[in-house]
Amino acid sequence: MRTLVGIGYDSHRFADGRRLILGGVEIPHERGLDGHSDADVLTHAVIDALLGAAGLGDIGEHFPDTDERWRDADSVELLETVVAIVADAGLEMVNVDCTVVMEAPRLGPHKQAIRARLAGALGLSQARVNVKATTGEQMGFVGRGEGVAALATASLDHAG
Ligand code: MG
Repeated sequence: MRTLVGIGYDSHRFADGRRLILGGVEIPHERGLDGHSDADVLTHAVIDALLGAAGLGDIGEHFPDTDERWRDADSVELLETVVAIVADAGLEMVNVDCTVVMEAPRLGPHKQAIRARLAGALGLSQARVNVKATTGEQMGFVGRGEGVAALATASLDHAG
């Protein structure tokens, strides 16, 4: 038995007239994130971490952004699909850790709701799902408020 580890990274740009959804939770803000789906950058990073740990490619292979089926898709539903794919591969999740890199709004008041939503979608206890937030210290595209980045790791074990 060997524990498997995967990483995920994503970024999306801010746009007017869009909702800001992070980890399946809508965050009140004057702008949201642009993308083919709901642009939930955090959930996309978590999906890629799970697929990476399972050795099953990346989110673009499973849910191409050229496919109309995934237009405005609820990314938590995509995550639930990937959770099922991971289980079908004979693997079980150990933990997920993630970081949102965003200048504004502050994520602090929303971290617990995001943790609960992701844990529910993953079928993990909240103790196994950690959500962190940091800023870009006014540097780069995040620091200029142009968009949001997210990173995630996931570890899997062979289902007993
Ligand atoms: Mg994405």
